[in-house]
Amino acid sequence: MKKSTKIIRSGRENNNYGGAVNPPVIHASTITTKNYKEYINIEKRKDPEMKYGRVGTTTTFALEESIRELEEGAKSLIFSSGLSAITSAILSSVKKNSHILVTDSVYYPTRRFCNTILKDLGIEVQYFDPLSGNKINNYIKNNTSMIFLESPGSLTFEMIDVPAITKIANTKHIKVLLDNTWATPLFYQPLKHGVDLSIHSATKYISGHSDVMLGIVTANNESAKSLEKTTLSLGVNAGPDDIYLGLRGLKTLEVRLKKHQESALIIAQWLKKQPEVSKVMYPALIDDPGYDIWKRDFDGASGLFGFTLKGKQNYNIENMMNSLNLFTMGASWGGFESLCIPTWPHKYRTENYKNTSESSFRVSVGLEDAYDLIKDLRVGLDNL
Ligand SMILES: *Cc1c(COP(=O)(O)O)cnc(C)c1O
Repeated sequence: MKKSTKIIRSGRENNNYGGAVNPPVIHASTITTKNYKEYINIEKRKDPEMKYGRVGTTTTFALEESIRELEEGAKSLIFSSGLSAITSAILSSVKKNSHILVTDSVYYPTRRFCNTILKDLGIEVQYFDPLSGNKINNYIKNNTSMIFLESPGSLTFEMIDVPAITKIANTKHIKVLLDNTWATPLFYQPLKHGVDLSIHSATKYISGHSDVMLGIVTANNESAKSLEKTTLSLGVNAGPDDIYLGLRGLKTLEVRLKKHQESALIIAQWLKKQPEVSKVMYPALIDDPGYDIWKRDFDGASGLFGFTLKGKQNYNIENMMNSLNLFTMGASWGGFESLCIPTWPHKYRTENYKNTSESSFRVSVGLEDAYDLIKDLRVGLDNL
């Protein structure tokens, strides 16, 4: 099956919702049993049989199974946010007194978790240049337990040569985790490239309407048990209404992403030609440093990219941002509405990061008309 078909069929093969196309939204804490015997054996139940609300209801299992099929993994689990998916996946992979490697381009709250909670627990956290490729070998120690990747990286959009890294990590039994939020399971399947755990903030494109917080982790065979064990102990479940919205969003992911991609390419190419702009960071652009890896490994690009303005100008950024009409400022991305925010990656990057203090921005291209969005950006640049 092609992915467009798979996305529609996924999670529905064994449905017994009385003919309804979608699963019911089951609100439950208590799941009662018929008798004593059923009660004492409740822990032995396997999905989609319910045990207790926190472990998931029919609604949860439908989304988990959909994502598992798309990622071609052994097990997917739903979390209350992208961040709880990330921190749970990390906690399921790190070992006592170990050393971990994290891409320097990682999403900032992931970095904060590593620098605070993990360091306090005695884990040695080391960042590496996302462009390291197989030079990752030089950083690996005897006690390295995990490598955390995000490709393309947050704010700066460097593409990581994932197969070059997993080739080394897999032979040394080092777990590789990858934040796959940007590409979604539609445009990249990390498990096929040797990654052990693929992570999504489903708050972004999968939900797609800026109204839900949701996270998902998909594990391969070797990592499924430890992920399930950790998750069971943490209690970071999502509510059924949010999960339902995630599932609803997923079904239209392909049509939305194709439009996000088409418009983002038009806008990125246009931005590149503007005299005020020094750089556009979008791996789908043919002259982007990450283009070759993106073309080799990914099936498409989403609508999120970065750009910088030429340095040493007397620009009024505040004026520019306030003059934008269609683009608004706000955290998160991947919704139907366009966003543009100023970013400051140099404030926390530590490894070989050359882009000093140029004005940097992140654009989430929404589903509006691309040329209306271009007009808006031009007004913004005129107000610099
Ligand atoms: C937003 C984001 C997250 C966190 O997701 P939440 O659902 O906001 O917790 C994780 N990774 C990336 C790359 C993100 O952009």
